[in-house]
Amino acid sequence: MGQWFKSTRRHSFGASVPASIRCGCLMIDLHTHSTASDGTLSPAELIERARQSGLTALALTDHDTVDGIAAALGACGGTGLAFFAGVELTVRFEGHGLHLLGYGVDHTDPDLRDTLHSLAARREHRARLMVESLRAMGLGITWERVRGQARGSVGRPHIGRVLVEAGYARDMNEAFARFIGSSCPAYLPSASLPVEGVVDLIEGAGGQVGWAHPYRGKYPPNVPELLPALLRAGLTGIEVYHPDHDPSMVSVLRGLAEHHGLWWSGGSDYHGPARPPGRLGAVRVPAAVLKQGPFTSPGTQHLVQRPNPSGADHLHPHGGLSVHVSDSSRRADS
Ligand SMILES: [Zn+2]
Ligand SMILES: [Zn+2]
Repeated sequence: MGQWFKSTRRHSFGASVPASIRCGCLMIDLHTHSTASDGTLSPAELIERARQSGLTALALTDHDTVDGIAAALGACGGTGLAFFAGVELTVRFEGHGLHLLGYGVDHTDPDLRDTLHSLAARREHRARLMVESLRAMGLGITWERVRGQARGSVGRPHIGRVLVEAGYARDMNEAFARFIGSSCPAYLPSASLPVEGVVDLIEGAGGQVGWAHPYRGKYPPNVPELLPALLRAGLTGIEVYHPDHDPSMVSVLRGLAEHHGLWWSGGSDYHGPARPPGRLGAVRVPAAVLKQGPFTSPGTQHLVQRPNPSGADHLHPHGGLSVHVSDSSRRADS
């Protein structure tokens, strides 16, 4: 267990908490990416953007890595931001490619770090093979150029950007549709763990696993039908609020969360200003999210600026977060 978990103190927000938290009108984004995976802002830039955007709570959920967490935590100093360590992992499950979100992990956990590093190495190898396939098809792109796009691990978005820059596709949608989408000749499946492996990994590092954006994509699975099998595999939560979820999907997902007793979450899936939705906090996430699941449990990492008698800013990792949600924000959620 990392140092953050040694504290058994429970804190509640004090005078340093932004007025937006006290009035219940939180801006919360629990699904974001940085340059540690395929986002375009560094973790520190992301935290600065969160501060400028008036966010009160943020989770960093990079694909396959927690390497951005330490820098994000370091950048939280003095912002008053409640920060949650997360990670997003891809799995194959009953014929579907699904994304899972792990929240509340200890980013220093050696098993977690080793496993994620090995997945990242396999992800990079896969990207390299895809570039070789595209070159064999006659496209004049190079691995160096693709690698140069990524400050963290390399993924299909980096290949896509090079394809657009080189004029082989008008935009990312076309790059995916013609060259690197899952039905294209150059596509290779991503290295991944089984769902149970993800649950073991995340729970071993003190976190909990939920299903990310169940309705995302052109051909989403039958969510109510698939969910029970995922719960048997160890999932305990579900992402309800996401840019790809319309109000009817949100309603179905909230109903499923209630029916199965799941925690729920939400966020913009922010990858930086250049990619939709292009704005942190673009999805309204009800403040009640912070009263359930991994966002309150004793193992979760939070970082909240609290007043310090010496006058210096101190950041307190702690084992619990008490957020008072006003009745008006609850009503806004329904
Ligand atoms: Zn995803
Ligand atoms: Zn994501």
